[in-house]
Amino acid sequence: MISPVLPTYNRAPIAFVSGAGSWLTAEDGTRYLDLGAGIAVNALGHAHPDLVATLTEQAAKLWHVSNLYRIPEQERLATMLVDRTFADTVFFTNSGTEACELAIKMTRKYWYDKGEARTEIIAFEGAFHGRSTGAIAAAGAEKMVKGFGPLMPGFRQLPWGDHDALRAAITTDTAAVIIEPIQGEGGIRTLPDACLKGLRDLCDTTGTLIIFDEVQCGVGRTGKLFAHEWSGIAPDIMMVAKGIGGGFPLGAVLATENAASGMTPGTHGSTYGGNPLGCAVGAKVLDLIDDAFLAQVSQKAARFRQGLEGLVASHPAIFDSVRGQGLMLGLKCRVPPTDVVKAAYAQHLLTVPAADNVLRLLPALNIPDTDITEAIARLDRAATALAA
Ligand code: PLP
Repeated sequence: MISPVLPTYNRAPIAFVSGAGSWLTAEDGTRYLDLGAGIAVNALGHAHPDLVATLTEQAAKLWHVSNLYRIPEQERLATMLVDRTFADTVFFTNSGTEACELAIKMTRKYWYDKGEARTEIIAFEGAFHGRSTGAIAAAGAEKMVKGFGPLMPGFRQLPWGDHDALRAAITTDTAAVIIEPIQGEGGIRTLPDACLKGLRDLCDTTGTLIIFDEVQCGVGRTGKLFAHEWSGIAPDIMMVAKGIGGGFPLGAVLATENAASGMTPGTHGSTYGGNPLGCAVGAKVLDLIDDAFLAQVSQKAARFRQGLEGLVASHPAIFDSVRGQGLMLGLKCRVPPTDVVKAAYAQHLLTVPAADNVLRLLPALNIPDTDITEAIARLDRAATALAA
C-alpha cells in the first residue's frame, strides 16, 4: 500500500523535532550535528533568535496579502537586493524551481519583444535547476526526464567547463545561457573565474543573456553575497532561493532593467510569492549577512577545508580530494558517498550526497569553530568505521 506521503524520496529513518544553531534533535532525543542545513537552506542555522523574533513579530501583524496591493516588506527586500547586486528589479517566488520558470519566461519574452526568433537556451551537463517540466528540460539529465516527455523544447546541454564547446555553441541565435556558478547537485563542481569571464565575453558579442542559478551557491555561501562576484562579472538574470529565506520558503529572480523589459503587468504572477511573512524574514537574513559576516564565512571555510584536507590525507581509501568554495564544500569519495552519509548518521552527523561521487558539506554559515572541529572528528570516525 502506498504511504500517505507520496514516496518520491528515499528517506532516512530519522525525524527531527527541534533545532538550534548547527544542531538538530531527533524524536528519541539524540542530537545530530547538521552539515546539510536543509541542503543549503538554513544559512543562519536553526531557530536563529533574530529570525524567530522577526517571523513572530510579522506573524502577529500580517501574514499574507495579494500582489494586487503594494507590499512594503517586499519593496524593502527588493530594494536591499537591488542595492547589493547587479540587478535593477526583483520578482519573489516560493522556490528555486519557480525562479527557474520565470527566468525561462523572461528570456523568451525578451527575444519575442525584440522580434527575434531566439529560443535556444544553453545549459550544462550535471546541472540542477528544479523539478518543474521547464527545469528538468533545461538540465536534461536522464534520471530527471525519463518518463516525463514530451519535454519542453529549446534547451541544449554542453559539457561542464568545456570552453571550446561553449564558443562553438553560442551564436547570435542563442537566447540565453543558464548556469550554476558552482554546480551543487552535480557534485560541487566549480569553474575557473576565467570561464565565467569568457562566457560573459561570448554573450556580450552575441547579445545572449546570462542566467545565473545561485539557488544553492548564493546568499553568502561562498563568502561573497553571491558566488559570481568572485569572477568580477555579472549576469543579466539570477535565480535565488534556499538561503535567502533562512528556512522560510522564499525565492527570487533578480534582473537588469533590460533583461526584464518584457515582463509587463499581466505577464507573470504568484499568489504567495513575496508575501509579508517571507519578505520580512528575507530582509532580516540579508541584514545579518553583512560584510563582516561574509568575512567570517571565509575564515570558517578555510578552517573547515583544512580539516577536510587532513581527512583526505588520513583516509586515502575513503576520500580522494576536497572541492568547492567557501562553505559549499565537497569531499570526492573513493567509496559511494551514500555509504559515507550512512556511516556519518552512526556518528550523529548529517551530510548530503551529490553526483560525481561527492559528499556535500553545506553547514550553517555561522557554524561555530568548535562545531567545525567536532564535525571533522565525527567524519574521521565515520571514515575509520567504513574502512574497517
Ligand atoms: N537550482 C539549484 C542550483 C538548486 O540546487 C535547486 C534545489 O536544490 C533548485 C534550483 C530548485 O530549488 P527548489 O527546490 O527550491 O525548487
